[in-house]
Amino acid sequence: DSEPRSYPALRVLSVSNQKGGVGKTTTAINLGTALAAVGEKVLIIDMDPQGNASTGLGMPRGKRKTTAYDVIVNGAPLADAAAPSALPGLWLVPADPDLSGVELELAQAQRRSFRLRDAINAVRQTPGGSPYTYILIDCPPSLNLLTVNAMAAADAVLVPLQCEFFALEGLTQLMRTVELVRASLNPKLEIQGVVLTMYDRRNRLSDQVAQDVRSHFGDKVYETMIPRNVRVSEAPSFGKPVLVYDLNCSGSQAYLKLAREVVGRERARRATAA
Ligand code: ADP
Ligand code: MG
Repeated sequence: DSEPRSYPALRVLSVSNQKGGVGKTTTAINLGTALAAVGEKVLIIDMDPQGNASTGLGMPRGKRKTTAYDVIVNGAPLADAAAPSALPGLWLVPADPDLSGVELELAQAQRRSFRLRDAINAVRQTPGGSPYTYILIDCPPSLNLLTVNAMAAADAVLVPLQCEFFALEGLTQLMRTVELVRASLNPKLEIQGVVLTMYDRRNRLSDQVAQDVRSHFGDKVYETMIPRNVRVSEAPSFGKPVLVYDLNCSGSQAYLKLAREVVGRERARRATAA
């Protein structure tokens, strides 16, 4: 390992899928929490005007001060927008509905696709090193300017995929978008991995989809699958990650396993890169 221990490298992951309801926000919140639980320093950036990640992490509307909107439109530093969460090692840049106006407000702006990248680059240049080892960006369910900013800023895309009919079609479309972003904005953008969500082993379709996705995307698909678990869907209404709400449930254990897999792959990637 050639990287100095006191300057941990930062890995920026865009949690993306143009489809809504596939588990992006749930994965951003809970993978982020699980990464913090295994000792990483994690910043979650809520890039969805709906602000579900902010609510799910216990930051109601009235408490959101400097937001992703201020970062993207006004150039506010991430360090000013990052609010500590209730958990050590986990910070949040909240979103509010203003964020939906970004597309129009930046219509004529310079570097409109690189607003988030510029903000993250400033973090990378923090004296003494980045205070975070992972940044997870929770994308909105569309391919708008916000998602483009996320993919232009990211080192890699992490794709939550719901085990349902048409999952592969959606994934193929997303891969095409990643190709476009590579060609125009961010040549080094990688696919970090695909995580199967809301998996139900009693459902034959769920199992078939999982097999199909694995046969097409091979080891890009994480071994860990996130089971459908009612505790996972209950937790956000308490403003808590599921790991805080119920550490022992199957959803929490799966996100912890996923975090270990992500960290393991990251170590392996760095070892080959070094
Ligand atoms: P997205 O951000 O992609 O729109 P969400 O993360 O908001 O998707 O998830 C969509 C819905 O599915 C939410 O109501 C969420 O609570 C629920 N959900 C996500 N993952 C699970 C899971 N593993 N088990 C049960 N419900 C889940
Ligand atoms: Mg969402």
